[in-house]
Amino acid sequence: MNYIGIDLGTTFSAVAHLGPQGRPITIPNAEGELTTPSVVLFESDDSAIVGREGKRAALAEPGNVAEDVKRYMGDESYPKTIRGRTISPINVSAIIIKKLVQDAEARLGPIDGAVITVPAYFDENRRQATAAAAHSAGLELIGIINEPTAAALAHAFRSYTTPEGGVTEILHADGQLPEISVVYDLGGGTFDVTVLRAVGYDLAVLATAGDVQLGGRDWDKRLYDHLADMFITEHGQDPRDDPLSRQQLESTAEEMKKDLSRRDHTLFVVNHAGKTLRGKLTRSQFEEMTADLLFRTESRLSRAVRDAGITWGDVDDVLAVGGSTRMPQVQAMLARVTGMIPDVSISPDEAVAHGAAIHAAVCVANSGRAEAPQEELREDDVDESVEIVPAAEVNVVSPAGEMESATELGRLAEAAIAPQAEPPVGTSPLDELAAALKCESPAPAPDQQAQRHFDTTAIDNEKREEFLDWLGAELTTLIGSIHTTSVNAHTLGVVAETQSGRLVVSPLIAKNTPLPVRETKCYATVADDQKHVLVRIVEGESKTAEDCLLVGTCIIKSLPPGLPKGSPIVVTFNYDAGGRLHVQAVHLASGSWAETFIRRGDGVDAARVHMNREILTKFKVS
Ligand code: AMP
Repeated sequence: MNYIGIDLGTTFSAVAHLGPQGRPITIPNAEGELTTPSVVLFESDDSAIVGREGKRAALAEPGNVAEDVKRYMGDESYPKTIRGRTISPINVSAIIIKKLVQDAEARLGPIDGAVITVPAYFDENRRQATAAAAHSAGLELIGIINEPTAAALAHAFRSYTTPEGGVTEILHADGQLPEISVVYDLGGGTFDVTVLRAVGYDLAVLATAGDVQLGGRDWDKRLYDHLADMFITEHGQDPRDDPLSRQQLESTAEEMKKDLSRRDHTLFVVNHAGKTLRGKLTRSQFEEMTADLLFRTESRLSRAVRDAGITWGDVDDVLAVGGSTRMPQVQAMLARVTGMIPDVSISPDEAVAHGAAIHAAVCVANSGRAEAPQEELREDDVDESVEIVPAAEVNVVSPAGEMESATELGRLAEAAIAPQAEPPVGTSPLDELAAALKCESPAPAPDQQAQRHFDTTAIDNEKREEFLDWLGAELTTLIGSIHTTSVNAHTLGVVAETQSGRLVVSPLIAKNTPLPVRETKCYATVADDQKHVLVRIVEGESKTAEDCLLVGTCIIKSLPPGLPKGSPIVVTFNYDAGGRLHVQAVHLASGSWAETFIRRGDGVDAARVHMNREILTKFKVS
């Protein structure tokens, strides 16, 4: 029985497991390296090379290389065609995961389950895409944890290993352990900042903020554009126009950035179209051209602390994780803003994978425990103080017009019974993956949603017992006592219609609300004799429905006939600590109701993922 933690990074990925005395250990890849570049070289129609070699080949065959896909997770249109086909970010990620698991299996034996990490600021779509990639790779996904929480876990765990290597205490409550930590995580493609409070064995997230489109790559891009502009000034030609020169320039830019973390200046050479540009760049020039990027992280850092309801004086520790925190400008900014020397003692490349390995053990240790049953909403459950949204302000759970709802219902029902598209027979796995992407994935009917969506894999009891025996009684108790709680990174609400017919978002759970949480609001029907109510559940900070992400629907199909306009519909959101959102819509007078379950990271269409899984088994990855 082997359980691992995977840090699936934008630029690098890492895998860890718990070794003797429960210490997290990074598992080297087949090349003997502790991190694997998240780069895929599609060398033929049925094989791919992941990692260092893929990265090197990016220079020679840029058209066959996929990188930075984490930035596009949740968006099926990865802006690149590989070997003439469109491949989804989910499938590129699945190929990376396949390589990571394959290499881990070569060292440990069969892998029985894994925890995978995601940025805390990832929205529902991106989390679901990550889970889809894990399932497509054939991985038994036993949990998902936010990257900063994983880093904080690794930090706390490490603090209490004895000199002999045995673990004595984890997440101590006697004041030895910093109570409030801020984790600043700047990786290759994403930025997260999280405020956590540790009390005893409880690690609670107080607030999170971030930017899923900000990372070391953006610092590289500034240097890359700067060098290209210099080249144009000198030679009148743009090296970015040629794929090979472009790749070389990208590589030079990243190397220069790393040099500038160690030295106050660096030298460079750019070759393109038989011409050469040589020069020198200082650290202060680099810092000047990237000051706005650093400022973006600074403003989110301040916002997270504000949202947590604390001041810097309350913070005990600032952890810097992610490869980009090696830049002196980051450490200087952290020291200036926080008034503390950032703790960089934890390996920025391995901390997240280590925390994921600990969380995998927590999932296994706790897997036998029964989940609290979901409560049913009864009439007397509705809080007297529940806000009844005034009719003048928000009139209806939208869209309430019978025609519109009926059309929507019909579309969903038709889609649910539509036959599954089969990939074409006799083509290469790459063709099949590209074809699978084009297959219209049928939308599940609302009452089929639970069956058609993935859940995290249940842990095999025998393997669990074996793992806990290996862990030993003392560690099992300690690990079983670890309890992490989170907040929802984005506001959750429903789409409602104003009297003027505008679709707006009516929030139920504000962002950074500690989980679990239960919120109820009352809405009203908009038409006389309305037959259906469609509740659209959305995530996002905007008041405008189109700017938010639709994460699910919940439809009351049969309201009693003759209901007057303005009849109350009670909507309840029940968001548990495990990230499971239960939405119920009830017409209390008649008892007509509907519900849906949405689980963070598992709203993946099973049929499509199953298809990908089949195809990917034929794909050779090294
Ligand atoms: P991660 O996603 O945490 O592995 O971080 C990868 C990012 O860290 C990439 O953008 C790297 O270029 C960057 N990085 C790694 N080492 C350094 C360094 N010494 N100085 C600046 N950036 C670095």
